[in-house]
Amino acid sequence: MFIFQRVADLQEYLGRARQAGRSIGFVPTMGALHQGHLDLIRRAESETDLVVASVFVNPTQFNDPKDLEKYPRTPEKDAEALFSAGCNALFMPPVDEVYPPGRDITLRLDFGLLDKVMEGVFRPGHFGGMATVVKRLLDIVGPDRLFMGQKDFQQLTIVRDMLRQLNSPVQLVMCPTTREADGLAMSSRNVRLSPEMRAAAPVIYRILQESKEMFAHRSAAEIRETAFQQLEQAGLRPEYFEISDGITLAPVAHRQPGAYVVACLAAFAGDVRLIDNMVLQEPE
Ligand code: AMP
Repeated sequence: MFIFQRVADLQEYLGRARQAGRSIGFVPTMGALHQGHLDLIRRAESETDLVVASVFVNPTQFNDPKDLEKYPRTPEKDAEALFSAGCNALFMPPVDEVYPPGRDITLRLDFGLLDKVMEGVFRPGHFGGMATVVKRLLDIVGPDRLFMGQKDFQQLTIVRDMLRQLNSPVQLVMCPTTREADGLAMSSRNVRLSPEMRAAAPVIYRILQESKEMFAHRSAAEIRETAFQQLEQAGLRPEYFEISDGITLAPVAHRQPGAYVVACLAAFAGDVRLIDNMVLQEPE
């Protein structure tokens, strides 16, 4: 595996690969890698000739400076894990390679409702920063396919819309959420959970599973109320629980034939903010 810190060096390497006719798969991450990230690498490996991963803790998508500071960083371990998973190239740029001084690369797109609901309410500015860095990384890497996790459902929805608005030829591949044995969605933040909160957190997955069953005959409002109660009973502090259209993120009140419906939630377990989601209804 090759490790690059500079855009020019990565591009020289990728230029040669492209000339040799190799397709490129890209997996952007913020590091502190776990099995969920490595599953994206394996998926990319199975669908493209050359896999590029990036590890970059993007400062512009953190609205809370303390969260940015506390974000776990394990670069050597990440490089080893990526190498073992079959990644071909790792891009680990310093901040000034992604955000060249004196050049404004801020992406200004209108995402309508997509960045205003759920995470958008609680993390103002987050998706603007995320979209900017994903666009910048796509411009640098120029992949054929972009692999992202369902774990961050709203993020993926916004990236899908961004690619559509930019008429980008990049194909977005949604990869399923990798979970611990007890159902907790893997996240770089999980290492910060206290033993007590680590024991409580799998309630999130149980609630989502129950919501899926309830959605057959209950309204979204009833399911939301039950979810909030159960989260609070388990000692978590829910921020939101929304049942939404899987593409437009507009609220959905009831099951409807042919609809694509997802439940998304965020809750604090101590001072660690967890998010998760589950598709309640697949389009027929
Ligand atoms: P992150 O570095 O955690 O911001 O995420 C980088 C990529 O990994 C994003 O596309 C995430 O959706 C994805 N990802 C994070 N956690 C998981 C997981 N548990 N299962 C699948 N994909 C994940």
